[in-house]
Order: sequence, then C-alpha cells, then structure tokens
Amino acid sequence: MIIWSNKLTNFLNKSTIIMGVYMKSIYGVTIDELEGLLVENNEKKFHAGQIYDWIYVKRVDTFSKMTNLSKSLIKLLEDNFYFEKLEVIKEQKDKDVSKFLFKLSDENLIEAVLMNHDYGNSLCVSSQVGCNMGCRFCESGRLKKVRNLTSSEMVLQILKVEKLIGKRISHVVVMGIGEPFDNYDNLVSFITIINHAKGIALGSRHITVSTCGVVPKIYEFAKLPFQVNLAISLHAPNDKIRNEIMPINKAYNVSTLIKAIKDYLSITNRRVTFEYIMLDGVNDNASNAKELASLLRGINCYVNLIPYNETENISFKRTEKEKILKFYDILKKEKINVTIRREFGGNIDAACGQLRAKGKVK
Ligand code: SAH
Repeated sequence: MIIWSNKLTNFLNKSTIIMGVYMKSIYGVTIDELEGLLVENNEKKFHAGQIYDWIYVKRVDTFSKMTNLSKSLIKLLEDNFYFEKLEVIKEQKDKDVSKFLFKLSDENLIEAVLMNHDYGNSLCVSSQVGCNMGCRFCESGRLKKVRNLTSSEMVLQILKVEKLIGKRISHVVVMGIGEPFDNYDNLVSFITIINHAKGIALGSRHITVSTCGVVPKIYEFAKLPFQVNLAISLHAPNDKIRNEIMPINKAYNVSTLIKAIKDYLSITNRRVTFEYIMLDGVNDNASNAKELASLLRGINCYVNLIPYNETENISFKRTEKEKILKFYDILKKEKINVTIRREFGGNIDAACGQLRAKGKVK
C-alpha cells in the first residue's frame, strides 16, 4: 500500500521515496518508458496505451480502477509508480483570465495562468520554482531558482486546471515562472507526454516554449521530432540595450542568438516569434524600431510587441500607447510581421512578469 505523507516525500528529481522505496510519479512517465517497463516484466507493450487512456482520457487516480488490466500488471504499476497530487491553494479570476497558485509536495509554490481566447483555453505553465536568468524587468525572476519542476509537475498543472474548470486546455505556453531551457530534459519529457496521441493529445502546434535565449538549447530543440512553436524573448535590437536588461546576453549576444534562430529555421522551417516588451525610454524609439527591422529582415518570424506590466518593485515604465503604435507602424512599413499583444490579467498580477513565487501564502 502507498501511504501519502509530505514528510516522507522527498524530491529527487523524478523519483520520490515512499515508505523507503523509490517511486516515480505516473504523470512524469512517457509512453516509451512505460513500454520499456512492461517489456522488461514480460508484459505486452500495448498495455501502455491502455494505461495512458486510463490516466489521461478517463482520468482515474488509482491503478485499481484500471479494470482491463490484469492483477499482476496493476501490482507492477503500484510497485513502481504513484499518483502525485498538486494542491491548488488559491484561484483568482478576472474577466478572461484566472490565476492558480499551486503548492508542490515540498511546499514550494508555483503559478499557472489560464487565458480564455476566442480560439480556446490557453494555459501558461511554470517550468521552475524561481528563475536564475535575472531579467531586470521581470518580477517572476526576483526569486532566484530554488529548483527545476519535474515533468510531472508541469503535466499536473494542465490536469488540475482542466479538472477545476471542467474544460479542456487547447493551448499550452511555457511562459510562466522559470526558464524552460534551463530545465531542458524535464521540458522535453513534459512535451512528449502532453503531445502523445493516446494521452492529453495536445497538438504540437498548440504548444509554445519561450526562452530568453539559451543558445545551445535552441540547437537541441531544433532537432526534436515535434513541431512545437518557439518564442524568443528578444526585447532589444542590439547588445548595448540587451546587456543592460538581460544578463543572458553576456553569455549569448544578439548576433549569436540571431544566428541560432537562422539555423533553427533552416532545420525546422517553422516560424519563430520574437517577444519585445516595450519599455519606456529604453528600447522603444523610432531608431530602435528600424534597427530591429534590419536585424530581423529575411527571417521567417513575427514580432509580438508586449505592453510592459509595471510592478511596484521594479522601476521600468510602460511605453505609452501612441508610441507603441508608432513602433508597430515602422515595423509594418519595413515589412516585418508584427502584432501587439492583447493584455490579460493586469488586475490580478497574473500578467507576464507578475507571477510571484512567494515563500509563504498569507
Ligand atoms: N524565461 C522564459 C519564459 C518566461 S516567458 C523567457 O524569458 O522567455 C515570460 C515572458 O514575459 C517573457 O517574454 C518575459 O520577458 C516577459 N515579461 C517578463 N516580465 C514582464 C513584464 N513585467 N511585462 C510584460 N512582459 C514581461
């Protein structure tokens, strides 16, 4: 029997010790891993699909409910895996957006944000507790990285929100707290799990990963077998500005990043999104727009201009609407595909950069 106890539950990346035995969260297991375990134990591979169906389609939360499996197979599953829980401790709602605060089994807190679009429900998931990238304008990153999330903790954000709202999530963006490319292996397992046709079956074109520009991982990402969207938090047209606001630029500067994107495009042929926060007096004048246009000329991309969400702890200010429109017009004239991001969640601190991993909930 598996006994749940937070005190016994100790995170060792993907495995957890329960009653002195290494157990793995079933939500962090890819179908290939499941098949491997079955074959090793003289069971038939096809049961992996049945198990996935119970977990992700029928959504049962004990192995004993998997009535089309033999007793010995259920025992094998019980001996190796457990049904991990993710506790929701707060939900805040605004018009088209809800924010969920989750408590992980080691008491750390993370958040996910649900946005209702006309095309479906999009969930912004977190990938780490805290973040080490240190972007000057970002509230989420003020808490340094405590640890990576496991793939199961990322999967559970989706399952839990779907259960709470009684609806399917149609799109996932990995744009919550954390730098996904600083947690690469768990990110890839997460995508593998949610994308699998026998599980949650989220289409790869409905999944977007956003990075501040961890260049070596962009090359690895290009080689993956799925068609997942990539977004780059660029936020500046040159090294001078980018160095000031994003420390990652000192490791991988603008030209290294742009070369990586060109290489990514030649491998994947998939259009890339560049995110560009409009920061008053920092990166938002006409010459910045022209420089951005020449930097991106010929690249299959579009630019998403993001009105900055001001936060009380950070002194950057939002560019005025008219100036954002002027910036937009210059890019358009220069034939760069550009959109201005619709704003969500400003009232409940759920907007980009405002997710806070507070130590304790008051
Ligand atoms: N670390 C990844 C994932 C976080 S995504 C990345 O950097 O891409 C969060 C997005 O919101 C990033 O583009 C980030 O730069 C942006 N962002 C951060 N703070 C913001 C703020 N206050 N207002 C608007 N966008 C912000």
